[in-house]
Amino acid sequence: MSHSVLVINCGSSSIKFAIVPAANNLAPTQTRRSGLAENLGTPDAVLKLINEQGEKKTIALPNADHQTALTHILNELGNEPPIAIGHRVVHGGEKFTQAVQIDDQVLAAIRETTPLAPLHNPANLLGIEATLELFADLPQVAVFDTAFHQTMPPQAFRYALPEELYRQHSIRRYGFHGSSHAYVTHHVDKLLGSTNHGWLSAHLGNGCSTCAVWQGKSLDTSMGLTPLEGLVMGTRSGTVDPSLHVHLVRTLGWSIDEIDQILNKKSGLLGLSGISNDMRTLTELAKEDHAGATLAIEVFCYRLAQSLAAMSCALPEFTGIIFTGGIGENSAEIRARTLALLPHFGLHIDETKNQKMIRGAEGRIDYDDDSGRQIWVIPTDEEGQIALETRSVLGL
Ligand code: ADP
Repeated sequence: MSHSVLVINCGSSSIKFAIVPAANNLAPTQTRRSGLAENLGTPDAVLKLINEQGEKKTIALPNADHQTALTHILNELGNEPPIAIGHRVVHGGEKFTQAVQIDDQVLAAIRETTPLAPLHNPANLLGIEATLELFADLPQVAVFDTAFHQTMPPQAFRYALPEELYRQHSIRRYGFHGSSHAYVTHHVDKLLGSTNHGWLSAHLGNGCSTCAVWQGKSLDTSMGLTPLEGLVMGTRSGTVDPSLHVHLVRTLGWSIDEIDQILNKKSGLLGLSGISNDMRTLTELAKEDHAGATLAIEVFCYRLAQSLAAMSCALPEFTGIIFTGGIGENSAEIRARTLALLPHFGLHIDETKNQKMIRGAEGRIDYDDDSGRQIWVIPTDEEGQIALETRSVLGL
């Protein structure tokens, strides 16, 4: 029997999965067997797989639902079934401060949290229910995006709103990307052999957030009640004036759904540039003096630097910055531009090291000579973190 953990991230029409072997918990994701089922429930449903050797395979599964896709994923595992399943669950509210083994009570509590994540939690539940039926004998664990941030103090998590909105309606800041911020900060702590550090972590992918982590615990993060608050993202606006909704309703007569759509799907890098949500494309266009791309990059870096400066207020001591996510791991330019806006931080970037840090490389990009604070690039491993927490909850 294999000792791997099957990690599942279930969306409304997709399932991402990865097989995380025991000895390979925190190894580079490239060598992991993984896959993605997408367009589920449509004639274009498809399962894309990649094995340990990096070989790819695509299986058409016309009109397959989640359960059918999961059955195929199970078949792919052949005679090496996993010992447990770890599910990514987006919102755990205040109820879940850490990962937890799934039982009927946990399922009910995740369901109760649905109003806080109306799009994500039902999709996550769909995956959990399907796997409970298919893998009835396997222990299953829910790992929440929000749980890592439950150590935030009230001064960081409360909005300045009437108390009853918090007490009766759970309106507060929760934060997301918990598995990523936990992984990269704990990973650097492990490399340095101590948790006695204060990190600012910047997860910069399609979604983006910053997080202040002191002695392994989150003290503040840029996302709030929903993953829209904070930084400029691929298609999300990040923080805007809270009266913007009212203004758009009054002046343009837009519906709440339209505004929600604009702020989540048509804003951010896409909205600013008018051309793309993809940082690689924008970086290329900016080299040709594309005005929208140039502006999008400038706003992105400025808002990121502002957020890092704000997050630094949460740390009793500041050890350094960790960059992760597709942009954080690959874009030397975004890292350098952002740090240039923070001269008072005492960060001395080594441009030679910075340029080399792409495509899965990890390491320090400062001079590493006690002349300044540390700057790290760490490829994130959310699946590895979910597998690690799954094992830990189950005592495996
Ligand atoms: P997700 O949040 O969907 O997991 P990723 O973490 O993969 O996304 O990040 C996607 C982003 O990373 C995209 O904006 C992409 O353009 C950007 N990215 C990837 N490689 C580079 C690169 N070499 N330079 C700049 N941006 C990059």
